[in-house]
Amino acid sequence: MVEICIGIESTAEKLGVGVATSEGEILANERAQYTPPPGSGILPREAAEHHSRELPGLLERALDRAGIDPEEIDLVAYSKGPGLGPCLRVGATAARTLALALEVPLAPVNHCVAHVEIGRLTARNEGLEFDNPVTLYVSGGNTQVLALKAGRYRVFGETLDLPVGNMLDTFAREVGLPHPGGPEIERLARKGDPIELPYTVRGTDVSFSGLLTAALRAHEEGARLEDVCAGLQETAFSMLVEVTERAAAQLGADEILLTGGVAANRRLSEMIHTMAEERGAEAHTVPPDLAGDNGAMIAWTGLLLHRHGHSIPPEEIPKRATVRQRYRVDEAPVPWGRG
Ligand code: AMP
Ligand code: MG
Repeated sequence: MVEICIGIESTAEKLGVGVATSEGEILANERAQYTPPPGSGILPREAAEHHSRELPGLLERALDRAGIDPEEIDLVAYSKGPGLGPCLRVGATAARTLALALEVPLAPVNHCVAHVEIGRLTARNEGLEFDNPVTLYVSGGNTQVLALKAGRYRVFGETLDLPVGNMLDTFAREVGLPHPGGPEIERLARKGDPIELPYTVRGTDVSFSGLLTAALRAHEEGARLEDVCAGLQETAFSMLVEVTERAAAQLGADEILLTGGVAANRRLSEMIHTMAEERGAEAHTVPPDLAGDNGAMIAWTGLLLHRHGHSIPPEEIPKRATVRQRYRVDEAPVPWGRG
C-alpha cells in the first residue's frame, strides 16, 4: 500500500511543508522564508514568530498542491533537530497536534539525515543507486562530510569554525549584499577574476574564519567585489572538494553526493563532478528546489523511519515527540543503511 506523509521543517530561517509518498514521489514542497532585519543575522524568536504565523497557510497550500484531504495522511514527520530551539518548537508542536488530531504516527527526523536521504532519492530518480555515498553537506548551519558506517552517518570531516553558507551570508551582509548571500556571491563571481585568499585544510577538516577575514580586508582595501567573490568561492569550494576527495579515497567510495542549500551553487557542483570524474566515481547534486531546507526531505525521511519501526504511535506522542537543538547526525538511527 502506498503511504502518504506530510513533513514539517522549521530548524532555522526557513519554514517548509512537504508531502511525499512511500514510493518516493514528492507531491508538494511549499516554503516560506523569514528574512532578518538589514545588517542582522537570524533572530531566533522573530523567526519562530514568522513560522507560527505562516504555518497554517503553508499546510493548507501543501495539501492543496498535493491534491489530498487531511484524512489521506498516514504519517506526520517533523525536524527534531539540530536547530534553533524556538523554531524547532513551532514545527514540533504543529506536527504533534496534527498527528494526534488525525490519529496517525509521528516520525522525528534528524535534519542532516534528511538532507542526505533526499539526495539519495533524487539520485535514484536519475537511475543512480547510491547505497553508500560520501556526502558533502553544505548549508547555512552545517558543513560536513558524511558516510554510512555501522548504521549511522558518521562525520568524516567538518568545519572547525563557520559553516560555509554562514560564511558566505556574513561576507554578503558586511559588504552590503542582500540576504541570503550565497546566490548574490555566485552571480558576482561569474563576472570576476579570483583573487588569491588563504586556504585552510587540516586533514579532512576545513576552517573558514581566516578566509572570511581576508576577503573582507581585500574588499576594504579596494579590490573589485566581483574578484573578491570569485576568490572567495574558488578558495572555499576547493577546500571543500579537497576534503570530500580525501574522505572518498580513505573510504574507497565511488559515489559522491552534494546536498544542502549551498549545493544550489553551479560552480561548486561543477567542481564536485570534475573531481568525481577524475576518480572514476559517480556524482550527484540534489536539484535546487530540494537543496535548501525543505519539508519534502522531512516527509521522505519520515517514511523511511516509519518503514523501519522508528515512528511514534499516537498514544506515545505526548511523551516522546521532543526536540533536540544539538541532535548530532551520528546519533540518529539509519536502519535502512547498508554501509
Ligand atoms: P540551508 O541552510 O540548507 O537552507 O541553506 C541555506 C544556505 O545556502 C544559505 O547560507 C545560502 O546563502 C546558501 N545558498 C543558497 N543558494 C546558494 C548559491 N547559489 N550559492 C551559494 N550558496 C547558496
Ligand atoms: Mg539545512
